[in-house]
Amino acid sequence: MTGVLETGRRRLVGIVSTLAGFGLAAASAGSFLASPAIAESTLATVERRAWAMGTRLVVTVAADRRAIALGASEAAIRAVAEVEARLSTWTHDSELSRLNGAVPATAVALSPELEADLFEAVHWWRETGGAFDPGVASLVDVWNLRGRGRVPTATELETSLSASGIRFLVLEPGTARIERAGFGIDEGGFGKGVALRSAAAAALESGAGCVVLDFGGQISMDGSCAPAWIDIADPSDRHRGLARLKMGAESVATSGNSERGLSVEGVRYGHILDPRSGRPAADWGTVTVVAKDPVAADCLSTALLVMGPREGIEWLRGRPEIDAVFVERSEEEKITATAGLESRLEVSGERVELLPPAQPRTAAFSH
Ligand code: ADP
Ligand code: MG
Repeated sequence: MTGVLETGRRRLVGIVSTLAGFGLAAASAGSFLASPAIAESTLATVERRAWAMGTRLVVTVAADRRAIALGASEAAIRAVAEVEARLSTWTHDSELSRLNGAVPATAVALSPELEADLFEAVHWWRETGGAFDPGVASLVDVWNLRGRGRVPTATELETSLSASGIRFLVLEPGTARIERAGFGIDEGGFGKGVALRSAAAAALESGAGCVVLDFGGQISMDGSCAPAWIDIADPSDRHRGLARLKMGAESVATSGNSERGLSVEGVRYGHILDPRSGRPAADWGTVTVVAKDPVAADCLSTALLVMGPREGIEWLRGRPEIDAVFVERSEEEKITATAGLESRLEVSGERVELLPPAQPRTAAFSH
């Protein structure tokens, strides 16, 4: 499980050999290609950059012809824009902002898309025992996490915490209502995942053979892509790659509390909150989650950061379909990874602990 890292990698989690493992190289790594038609044809590759949901989006598409790749990359960007228009709470006119602004206890009609997003977010809240909680908008506000940051007084924190929690959202088919004044939904922990899934689907529908999306550090690959190596950075020095991971058609999300933290009077606070205390989660390092579904990867990287390595590892025990790498900051970084990554995680020097294979959870009762 060791290997030498090349130096000079520069992104927190970035596509290392941008498309060495994509397009032309795909032909030599044919075992990964689902469709021989794509391997045999001359692939055209298009890369586009856009700014969406407050972060950078890089879309790379390979298709049989350039016109198709162009169309597919446009479709991907349009899909992200649609998700942004629905979920962004940075504007007042998104569908989610309108729901957040609704009078408590009155039913609000939901588009099928927002309804699905919210059911999914609630699903991950339940699955993670509340470590992922999209109902933290009141806390994001009181800590001014979207501005320069501020430390709330004990009373402010208490008031804000009492209006926080997705349990104050009552979802019914086609409608939702908010049960508590001051409550709001924050899309920060799941919106990128929703956008990634939608963008990948749009590109494939438009004829893309392979689509690679890098959205503010969460990377998704879909279609007939050859594997690509991505970096996992040192939490204390995001320019230094600690490990690299070979990814296929799946999504990889990293959460850490230092990379987007705030400083208030010299004390650093992270942007990921522990919904139970209402305070920023401990800044112990970073967690990278590998999952087929970008929404799962997005929600779970946030949740596992909140849980921390110990509780997180317990949580992963019954979930073989989710892989994760915990990088704990200390003198010597400690890396803990799930067994599913054994053959595709390369680490230079640092200690790695590989978890025993996860056992599927058994049903609560059997006949
Ligand atoms: P990033 O957006 O940097 O990739 P995450 O995906 O982990 O990081 O999302 C963090 C964002 O999610 C925060 O900026 C905030 O908007 C929101 N958030 C903070 N704490 C939680 C939490 N416990 N559960 C769900 N969303 C959260
Ligand atoms: Mg996340």
